[in-house]
Amino acid sequence: MDITKPEDECFRPSELDELTETQRAPARSTDRPNATGLDSKLTLIKSAADVMTGWRAAETVAQLAMAAGDMGEWVWDAESNLMSLSPRAAEIFELPSNARVSREQLGARLSADDGAMTQREFDSAVRERGDFKVEFRVMRPSGTRCWAAVRGRGVYSDAGEVVGMIGIVQDVTERQTSDEIRGHLTAVIESSIDAVISKTLDSIIQTWNPSAERMFGYRAEEIIGKPVTVLIPPGHDDEEPAILERLKRGERIDHYETVRVRKDGTLIHVSLAVSPIKDAHGRVIGASKIARDISEQKRVEEALRLTDRRKDEFLATLAHELRNPLAPIRQATLIAQSPSATEDQKRWSHELINRQVRNMALLLDDLLDISRITRGTLALRLEPTDLAAVVDAAVETAKPVIDAKRHQFSVQTPTDRIELIADPLRLAQVLANLLTNAAKYTDPDGRIGLSVRRDGGHVVLCVTDNGIGIPPESIGNLFEMFSQVKSSKDRSEGGLGIGLALAKGLVELHGGTIAVKSAGVERGSEFIVRLPVRTYHGRPEVRAVQISAETALPRRVLIADDNRDAAESLALLLQIEGHEVTAVHDGREALTAFESWKPDAALLDIGMPGLNGYEIARAIRRMPGGRDVTLIAVTGWGQDNDKAQALQAGFNHHFTKPVEPDALTALLAKSAPAAK
Ligand code: ADP
Repeated sequence: MDITKPEDECFRPSELDELTETQRAPARSTDRPNATGLDSKLTLIKSAADVMTGWRAAETVAQLAMAAGDMGEWVWDAESNLMSLSPRAAEIFELPSNARVSREQLGARLSADDGAMTQREFDSAVRERGDFKVEFRVMRPSGTRCWAAVRGRGVYSDAGEVVGMIGIVQDVTERQTSDEIRGHLTAVIESSIDAVISKTLDSIIQTWNPSAERMFGYRAEEIIGKPVTVLIPPGHDDEEPAILERLKRGERIDHYETVRVRKDGTLIHVSLAVSPIKDAHGRVIGASKIARDISEQKRVEEALRLTDRRKDEFLATLAHELRNPLAPIRQATLIAQSPSATEDQKRWSHELINRQVRNMALLLDDLLDISRITRGTLALRLEPTDLAAVVDAAVETAKPVIDAKRHQFSVQTPTDRIELIADPLRLAQVLANLLTNAAKYTDPDGRIGLSVRRDGGHVVLCVTDNGIGIPPESIGNLFEMFSQVKSSKDRSEGGLGIGLALAKGLVELHGGTIAVKSAGVERGSEFIVRLPVRTYHGRPEVRAVQISAETALPRRVLIADDNRDAAESLALLLQIEGHEVTAVHDGREALTAFESWKPDAALLDIGMPGLNGYEIARAIRRMPGGRDVTLIAVTGWGQDNDKAQALQAGFNHHFTKPVEPDALTALLAKSAPAAK
């Protein structure tokens, strides 16, 4: 540290000599009295003492400053290239006290990078006659490390040759560490995805990170110095005083969910964490605030709540829909049993039961389909399909509902044949669903229309009605599962809210789209299905099932089902059809019956006590004559993998309960009698 020279000058040896002279001599020659007589001698001695005192004082101040700054001194002698270190300087480098070491020896205490940089700076300071100023890490032999700041100034001969350098060294580890930590913290704050803001206790914004900029739309320079209340929307005015109150008590506020306003006036849901900032004496001087954008979380929560509510409503509707047919079925059964019932009344009861059971089965089919679509396991049976036939089938299904409400119904189809590669049953299901909805959601005597037209490579099917219409806020999620328009529920005649979701899934499986338009409540609706027209180049496969007199022979049928009612009623039905039937109620009985009775076909329930249906099927296939028998699985589980499992176990066919008697009769007729 130079206390006698201006910054940009270097010491020369002659100057050092002069300095020593000056330091020994009185401060100024003009102050020197005439050296005659005692007085003058005393004066001279006194002046010398003053100078000495002044010099010692200056030296003491310098020493104090060095000690306060925890600094050590060093001197480099150019000729010997040795560095002399004061005890403190030696301590910093973990060298013996008052060490004399070469520059290379000292350099070995530095990392390779720091060593090279220090060398460069030293050479340049000597060359440029500038100050030598570096900071480097010291790797001590004990394994500890520290940061050292070094300053030095060259000493030059009159000829301009460098003769040495004197300087100081200071352990700046603490400052470096806090600088490093500050650097890390700044980087963390800058890269944080949360808004990090600090403010004074008067709520004046002090710092504002890039995320705060993104989140609230204000740039740092336009918001720093403004009150934080610019971010608080009306209705939340009491929040800031309450937060400040808690902060002043030194409290921290966590997970405070609220709403803030952006520069553009839009609202944003945030979760706040506010902590007091304290000074060195522990006094609260401000607050740091971390705001997390939770808009997406709020949106997801809201969507989950909606889905959950829809699911609850769905379960309630499902229970209602499943319970609904039970009352007429029970009443019809009582009528059929009544001794006083006429033949007509009995027939009517049977038709009613038939109708209700078919409706329940359709409902369950829809449920299974929607679950398959959601899991992506529904497969289409694609084939060349005449669109007119699909339209006819759909109209036939929906006609009873349309007629029951006396709607006017018009169909417009092009005269040209339109052929698609499609699953005709599934397409008809979609169209029938749209037509049935149109009839359901239109008051009696309404108008329903179906039009079909070509549009380039597509065919467009439109189902229109002049019914209750759809409010704009419901249009967006109408095709979601369990979505039902609240206002239309009172006027609907039942339904689970899955028909349109199913229709959308099926249309998309065909590579098409479905959309809805409505001018609003009571303004009617229009559902538009667009399907790609794909030309089929192969020969259409003609599939016809003919039941010949020979194959329609009566069969011996074994029925195994632990649900006695199900087994007995099916047995009765088949007996009425002319088949010979034996019904048993557990797995072992089924095997015994098969062995002794040798049926042509066996209808096996899967979940049974003793042996389950799969085990029976496998056992039968291994028994003599077991290969020829037609095995039919009858289960409550209709998923594709249930079917696959049944086929693997050796079944020829799989039916989902309730078995459609007509389908079973047709199947039995087709199956050859087992070889006896
Ligand atoms: P569901 O008819 O069983 O309730 P859908 O999925 O077929 O289920 O229809 C969902 C909802 O869409 C219905 O509950 C109804 O609110 C509304 N909707 C469907 N079709 C129409 C239509 N043609 N007119 C008015 N609203 C309709």
